[in-house]
Amino acid sequence: MSGTAGTMPTAPAMPGATPLMDRLIRRTVERHVPLSVHMDITYRCNERCVHCYLDHEDHGELTKDEVFRVLGELAESGTLLLTFSGGEIFLRKDLFEILERSRELGFDVSLKTNAILIHAMQARKLVELGVRRVQVSIYSADAAIHDSITKVRGSLERSLTAIRLLKAQGLQVKIACPLMKQNLSSYQEVVDLAAELGVPYVIDLTITPKMDGDREPLSLRATGAELFPILQERSCGGRASAEKAASSAESLGSAVSSSVESTAYDDLTCSAGHNSCYISPYGDVFPCVQMPVAAGNLRQKSFQEVWRGSSEMKRVRAIRESQLRVCSKCEIREFCERCPGLAMMEGGDLMGPYERACELAELHARNAGVANPVSAWHREQANRPAADSRRETASARSAEL
Ligand code: SF4
Ligand code: SF4
Repeated sequence: MSGTAGTMPTAPAMPGATPLMDRLIRRTVERHVPLSVHMDITYRCNERCVHCYLDHEDHGELTKDEVFRVLGELAESGTLLLTFSGGEIFLRKDLFEILERSRELGFDVSLKTNAILIHAMQARKLVELGVRRVQVSIYSADAAIHDSITKVRGSLERSLTAIRLLKAQGLQVKIACPLMKQNLSSYQEVVDLAAELGVPYVIDLTITPKMDGDREPLSLRATGAELFPILQERSCGGRASAEKAASSAESLGSAVSSSVESTAYDDLTCSAGHNSCYISPYGDVFPCVQMPVAAGNLRQKSFQEVWRGSSEMKRVRAIRESQLRVCSKCEIREFCERCPGLAMMEGGDLMGPYERACELAELHARNAGVANPVSAWHREQANRPAADSRRETASARSAEL
């Protein structure tokens, strides 16, 4: 998702829901209504961000008529919140028709874009169509750094011009800044830039493997030691600080879309598969963009058939926090932004812990004043008899051979 890479829905570190929203979330979770759907309508992109996890070739995107059919099925299924993302959505020539149909069907529409194709006409059109929010990826206030990440010269200037146009039209605009080694030094500048533009921002620490499993983007992640001063400075992040993040209209953790924190999710690992899901440009349905559990394809089945009937969706839906063998016993769970999708991608187990979550949770906990925080997983590893780990290393070696 070049340009919008890392701007994915997550449950943690979100503002608390209003009572009305909380009721809506509870009802949709209980009844398995897909309240919030994230739809990528293309993986093509006009930027080539260094951390992007997508394959930008077009392998057969849903046509406009197919998208219209899916939108109708979502409306019938009870979806209210719809986020269009990519790739770069403005590369779809039929984008405005898709937005128009979405609004006719009554969806609350949000967009994620790098915005470099948004000029005055596009900004006006988005307002006319009733789009509510636009999230734009900005990596730095320094054009040399931003453009070196997007690999498009002049992209920062174009994105900022677009943000100003969108703001002037009265649209809600938010900056998303995936933070990695390349732009670590730009962190404060992005915060200042957001203040100058008068828009909220989210600093996103999520850098994921590529969709084909290539883990190369992970080498771009800032280390815990590099992030700690920033966490200290902001005193922000993790579930424990969600309220603070909300009240200051800022966030540090994961870029998010429409999910809000709610007690309805209490024993769920997140909203994925319960009242939210992801649809790829090829019609594949997943519980979340960040959870590679393919549940079915909308060229072969209706949305309802996949959402209600697929065994994968049911399997994800059946998982409860309290069943997680390691994480349910973790003393620093409240500081952890564990994502089951990343647990699967990085640790190989939807229900397991993974190193990055433990590392960040320990940082958040230390920052909040917990003395010597240790995640349950790290504790388990440290307590393992040496013979166990020697046996595992030996069997891993023989498996490699
Ligand atoms: S899998 Fe769950 S926690 Fe992870 S990004 Fe998706 S909704 Fe968020
Ligand atoms: S063990 Fe690690 S991943 Fe699991 S809750 Fe604790 S910190 Fe998070």
